[in-house]
Amino acid sequence: MNHPSDRPGPHPSDRPRRSAASRRPDVAGPSDVSDPSDVSRPSGLSGLTGPAYEPGDAGYEAEVAPLNRAVVQRPALVVGAACAEDVAAAVRYAVGTGRAVSVMATGHGPSVAASGHVLITTRRMDAVRVDPEARICVVGAGARWRDVLARTTPHGLAPLNGSSPAVGAVGYTLGGGVGLLGRRFGYAADHVRSLDVVTADGRTRHVTAADDPDLFWALRGGKGNFGVVVAMETDLFPVARFYGGGLYFDASHGPEALRTYVEWTRKVPEEMSSSVLLIRYPDHPSSPAPLRGHFVTHVRVAHTGPRDEGERLVAPLRGVGPRLLDTVAETPYSAIGTVHHEPTEEPYSAFDRATTLGPLDRAGAEALLSLAGPSAGAPYIVELRHHGGAYGRVPRVPSAVGAREAEFTLYSGTGPGEEERAAQLALFEKMRPWGAGAAFLNFSGPDQSAPGIVATAYAPGDHARLVRLKQRYDPGNVFRVNHNIRPGGPG
Ligand SMILES: Cc1cc2nc3c(=O)[nH]c(=O)nc-3n(C[C@H](O)[C@H](O)[C@H](O)COP(=O)(O)OP(=O)(O)OC[C@H]3O[C@@H](n4cnc5c(N)ncnc54)[C@H](O)[C@@H]3O)c2cc1C
Repeated sequence: MNHPSDRPGPHPSDRPRRSAASRRPDVAGPSDVSDPSDVSRPSGLSGLTGPAYEPGDAGYEAEVAPLNRAVVQRPALVVGAACAEDVAAAVRYAVGTGRAVSVMATGHGPSVAASGHVLITTRRMDAVRVDPEARICVVGAGARWRDVLARTTPHGLAPLNGSSPAVGAVGYTLGGGVGLLGRRFGYAADHVRSLDVVTADGRTRHVTAADDPDLFWALRGGKGNFGVVVAMETDLFPVARFYGGGLYFDASHGPEALRTYVEWTRKVPEEMSSSVLLIRYPDHPSSPAPLRGHFVTHVRVAHTGPRDEGERLVAPLRGVGPRLLDTVAETPYSAIGTVHHEPTEEPYSAFDRATTLGPLDRAGAEALLSLAGPSAGAPYIVELRHHGGAYGRVPRVPSAVGAREAEFTLYSGTGPGEEERAAQLALFEKMRPWGAGAAFLNFSGPDQSAPGIVATAYAPGDHARLVRLKQRYDPGNVFRVNHNIRPGGPG
């Protein structure tokens, strides 16, 4: 996703049952910046490897700061976990003192404002271990996709990463994970082999389909509701290159680009993943020169079939007219982040909202143009991602991930003002005739955190099962600073 201020092998049950984390002696990873001499220790939390801060401590503000500042968290204690034991100690401390637990890797995915709880930050746990023969990797809770790509792509292997290499691999995957290989291979959550997770009882469990099928099902899609994942073992795919990039159309060609794109998605093979972003780039030096000050319709494509087939498939999109910028080319998978070209490092404040759509007809495309096209003057950005293909197929080991019937996700990001957010809500109301009725939590922000909205992210029977499992694994709703599944149901 961009945001409004943007400038631009064998099955797990066939394998030895060892903890993923136990095979990673370097859990703290090279970016462990903790300074034990600078650590303050609330009583009951001695023996942490990473730091812990309370409000007023020197390291507190930096430790709690998320990338997306749409909502604020003011925890009573933040634990900068450096290993699984730190996470378990923090959870036990929170439960023992009657506090909720939240977890943050990068702060890309804000959900609800909170205070007085225990925040566990995981960015120090960024180790990635790759087994190229088995085509798997084990990633720490704080690893970003760029950390994973750096380790897998030298072997010609790709993870099911998303559009931005800066996003956390674990948080993304627990929410489903819609990536640039997804129409071919499915949701990232569909290809998880095992998870090491600290549950509300303070235990660290190695969870697989064979050992704990209920928890394994719930974690994959249930996001942060069932515990803090400390390590994730997941499949890799032999994809070393793709034909793709961005086609950036100006305002005069944007509407036709959107119409053509929507029509085009009906015919493309599963090897083609794509999306389109409608955005006005600020007339500011931070915007890329060819896009600065323009309303841009940015069509993104990634085709993993043969190059000439990719060129043939992209030709109707190029046929719309001249592009301000055209980066579609043969590209190594290590550069997959260039397709969406999303901002990564600067903090921002964006209210995200998303829903799933069914098929989009011409009227749907026109409705979207009237609400978010070049002449709409909208205070938000809008993105359509093409689903279908393998997203629609239930994986061999089913997960809680919903939205299997979606043809598209519709995402919008806007600023914090009440008027902007009201306009954004109106956009979604007006697109309701094309809706598939489901929220998609990875793209949902604070305005979609009500449990009744969260429930729509799942098939109705699946949500009821998630509630039952929440009662079993987290009856006190310790993990509630999130898009929450309540043990008592949505209420
Ligand atoms: C620029 C950008 C691009 C994106 N692209 C995509 C995309 O292509 N496809 C897609 O599906 N999503 C995408 N997203 C959404 C993203 O996957 C979610 O926001 C995700 O939650 C971010 O995870 P994080 O750890 O980086 O963020 P954080 O804000 O640190 O975490 C968000 C939430 O994830 C959960 N979580 C994180 N770590 C853990 C853990 N170890 N254990 C349990 N729960 C945990 C918690 O509920 C936490 O509140 C994108 C977001 C942005 C901002």
